Amino acid sequence: MRDYSFLVWLKRFLDSKKGKGGQKNELHRHLGWLLEQGENRQPKMFCPYCGERLVSFFALYRDYREEHAFDFNHAYCRDCFRDKCPPSTIRGEAFLFSFFGKKLNSWERSLAIKLFKEVFGLPERLTRGKAFEFFVNPDNRVP
Ligand SMILES: [Zn+2]
Repeated sequence: MRDYSFLVWLKRFLDSKKGKGGQKNELHRHLGWLLEQGENRQPKMFCPYCGERLVSFFALYRDYREEHAFDFNHAYCRDCFRDKCPPSTIRGEAFLFSFFGKKLNSWERSLAIKLFKEVFGLPERLTRGKAFEFFVNPDNRVP
């Protein structure tokens, strides 16, 4: 997962090289497909608030400096996000792997990785092979 922002960067780089009407090469097509799989993975963690539904969101809120911050310690289902997220919440952020393409500092990144691992039931030691398997396995798709 640490490689995700690199993949996003590489995809953008290849996109910019393609130009108008250009053909996508094999690597480019494969990368695009792999990145799309990160947008349709199904969270496996049940909501810690109701215990009934799978989680959908974590919260983006304002911290004391009025800057944006992410609540990496909590995940919510759709209903509990509406009813139980902190009042300073701006919006819910879905569990999409494109999140790792955002500008995050190393602290935010490590917290986000921890949360995503928990939410998607990924192993603590996530090898490249295990990550790939997770992204390609159709059983992990949002139904
Ligand atoms: Zn809930």
